[in-house]
Amino acid sequence: RAKKAGGNRVEPFRPAFRSMGTDRLQMETDLRRAIDRKELSLVYQPIVRLSDAEIAGFEALMRWEHPKRGSISPEEFIPVAEQSGLISQLGAFAFDKAASDLMDWQLQTGDLPIFVSVNLSSAQLLNNELYNDVRAVLSKTRCEPHKLKFELTESVVMENAEQARLVLNKLREAGLGLALDDFGTGYSSLAYLTRFPFDTIKIDKALVRDSSDKRTVLLRSVISMALEMEMQVVAEGIETEEDAVELGRMGCQFGQSYLFGPPIGCDSVLRLLKERFPLMKRA
Ligand code: C2E
Ligand code: MG
Ligand code: MG
Ligand code: MG
Repeated sequence: RAKKAGGNRVEPFRPAFRSMGTDRLQMETDLRRAIDRKELSLVYQPIVRLSDAEIAGFEALMRWEHPKRGSISPEEFIPVAEQSGLISQLGAFAFDKAASDLMDWQLQTGDLPIFVSVNLSSAQLLNNELYNDVRAVLSKTRCEPHKLKFELTESVVMENAEQARLVLNKLREAGLGLALDDFGTGYSSLAYLTRFPFDTIKIDKALVRDSSDKRTVLLRSVISMALEMEMQVVAEGIETEEDAVELGRMGCQFGQSYLFGPPIGCDSVLRLLKERFPLMKRA
């Protein structure tokens, strides 16, 4: 690195930016080592019940602290992980860590009625190890399966519809929750998607914040359709109290956004839970 070069060493020529290809390759190499080097971690964002603002659960979101580049967004490194085949490893790490963290919290707060959801990519769904990995984590952590959920986007299930249905049915039978993530950004055919065993739908922030005059009618119909299909509804990216009230009136039960709380580290979650559920603290 040029910075570290001392004395009379001539600084090598570095172009202003590397080509996309080289950059990706470098990121892939770095990502490959990131798990072992403990550069990956999870943060948790509260999913809040709109009726009483109580915490219903958390979504686990991955963070990468790169030794040189600092923190890199999952929007950037998850696609690299997906294309390089690393996502199954990252995903397994995330599920294991999320279940373990939940059990740690419960050890210190008592058995709280909260869940943790973990994002799932399409390559993981195609990986035959997924189901066994999930079972292994469940027996290792002794976490109750209904306290864990996977979040999948509609493109993930539509790309591999047959395989998706098989695996998702098995996960549901094992007791895990399944949330349809980012609804409202793709084809958004809820009727089609009911052929998969989702119990929750997460309405994307783009739809929640849509400024067109069709917003209300869209939100209302998505929510009522989901409710009729006995799914729970989470609205992402709610920015104002007003929107929270409006969505609540439409029948949406949960919200997840900076308004209700940003993603926070494992220790902060524990503090938050102790504060929110004081009566359930262990003797
Ligand atoms: P997602 O699953 O839809 O997660 C929600 C994203 O919205 C998170 O971004 C969250 O921090 C952000 N967010 C929450 N509230 C607000 C809000 O009020 N306003 C705005 N503008 N954003 C809000 P994040 O953490 O950067 O993650 C981005 C995406 O990366 C996730 O979208 C998910 O698709 C993917 N991702 C993150 N962690 C994992 C993982 O462990 N595995 C997989 N496969 N994907 C992951
Ligand atoms: Mg998600
Ligand atoms: Mg989402
Ligand atoms: Mg997203």
